[in-house]
Amino acid sequence: MIRCVAGLALLACAGPAHARWLEATSTNFIVYSDGREAELVKFTEKLERFDQLLRWRTSTEAATSPTRVKVYLVASRAAIMNIYPRKIKNIAGFYSTSVFGPTAFVPRIEGSGIFDLDGEAILYHEYTHHFMHQYYPAAYPAWYSEGFAEYFSTVEFQDRSQKITVGKVPGQRVIPLYQEKWLPLEKLLTLTYQREEKVKPEDMQQLYAQGWLLTHYLFSKGAGRDGQIKTYVQNINKAMPLKEAFEDAFKSDYETLGKELRTYFKKGKVYYTEIKGDLFKPGPVSVRPLGDPENALLILEAQLRLGVAKDDRAAFKARFAKAIAPIVQTEAGRLGQAELENSLGDPANVTALLEPLLKEKPAHPRAGAASAGSQQDCSQKPGGKPRGLAQISPQLGSQSQPCRA
Ligand SMILES: [Zn+2]
Repeated sequence: MIRCVAGLALLACAGPAHARWLEATSTNFIVYSDGREAELVKFTEKLERFDQLLRWRTSTEAATSPTRVKVYLVASRAAIMNIYPRKIKNIAGFYSTSVFGPTAFVPRIEGSGIFDLDGEAILYHEYTHHFMHQYYPAAYPAWYSEGFAEYFSTVEFQDRSQKITVGKVPGQRVIPLYQEKWLPLEKLLTLTYQREEKVKPEDMQQLYAQGWLLTHYLFSKGAGRDGQIKTYVQNINKAMPLKEAFEDAFKSDYETLGKELRTYFKKGKVYYTEIKGDLFKPGPVSVRPLGDPENALLILEAQLRLGVAKDDRAAFKARFAKAIAPIVQTEAGRLGQAELENSLGDPANVTALLEPLLKEKPAHPRAGAASAGSQQDCSQKPGGKPRGLAQISPQLGSQSQPCRA
């Protein structure tokens, strides 16, 4: 149930109706922001450089995916909490995948301290997952999937020196390494998402922290373990038994590698890499202000696609109706109304709504998809527990289906 709370959140609730949104389009991203244009362009360029960094670091030669990741760059964490489909405290940003494509929501401000997750770190973490599965689809062990994403979540683009740093410590992962009981290495390596309902929250916390540390260790020059993680993942994907896959790849046993990891942590020094920033050129970024109808519906449509909690639907529909009333005869208005009918109204209304638009533009992709959606028998209902949420972290993620309840 999404409600506005006191203070900043009230501003956030009022914000979308009056905010002027800009849309920046680059090779891999579409970024929306209600902030300054220069800041939006800089942010979008940074994301493109991040993509190139991942390509470079993983020697990726595959062509760029035609599906751009949508990023909503909003004013504050309060605005993020207002958009998120469930009540949750201290959310710093989130990422969602659905039939509408990969979408991320991040605040323009950074975390307030070194132990805070900030929106940019979350975006890097999630984009790294996206990149991994887009270009290297495979079954990854949970610790490595999260460890790899955490490793790249701390990338920094230095404004002055133009350098890029890779491999810095994620502050929020240090505390569990000092305070919590470590998972034995075998348990860390064999924890799976499927069993997560039975996994203690503190064990999941350790999976992120130790997963990051082990990834960092295996990537470090001093470990002398170049390429072993690649062999390990390949072994797992050949369905080799886990212990055999481990011993074949790491030429070691669980206890020995576990001790090495402890020693690596006790040294108290984690090295990071500095890369010359001019290695990565961001490419062109085009910016356009959204027209009035798109502007009015941008956040409401994003919320609709995330799924609206059952208790909140009446209020949401009222807000949607108010926003759409002046523009209902426009193309954007008809498309918005069609999505609303598909998700929370009566899909039988969609055909009549979109008929004039499809007559004029039979190949209109969004109208076609909305029309097809009205004829689907959706078995997934919005507003339930978002799939994937608990798989990522207390702060991250959701998936939604644009289906009618
Ligand atoms: Zn993750």
